[in-house]
Amino acid sequence: MSDECLFCKIIKSEIPANIVDQTEYALAFRDINPQSPTHVLIIPKKHIGSTRDLNEQNVHYLSKIILLAQKVAVEENIIKDGYRWVINTGNDGGQTVNHLHLHLMGGRSMSWPPG
Ligand code: AMP
Ligand code: ZN
Repeated sequence: MSDECLFCKIIKSEIPANIVDQTEYALAFRDINPQSPTHVLIIPKKHIGSTRDLNEQNVHYLSKIILLAQKVAVEENIIKDGYRWVINTGNDGGQTVNHLHLHLMGGRSMSWPPG
């Protein structure tokens, strides 16, 4: 865990979050600035800065995130209509919090390509 990381602080309950679901390896909580009716962030319960920091030793966290995202999509009732997964990486990717997170967005129709 990183002392300075916002999402590590949420994992450690040092700052509040609207937690939706969790497992031993992953945490799901509502985005503070939702861009769709369902907008949940799913993060590893280990500090991984971005997709650039995935490797043979920690890549299983990505599977854990994905499985929790599927479960939350069922709980949020967006499975049938569909949803979007987004992982922003680095400056050009639009990443603002340097702890790997998957955006689960649904509840409205979305356009392509993203801005
Ligand atoms: P990204 O731009 O992909 O790094 O996404 C970071 C997301 O974290 C943004 O959608 C923010 O609205 C969200 N966010 C920032 N601070 C918090 C917080 N304290 N609780 C929940 N979501 C947050
Ligand atoms: Zn972190």
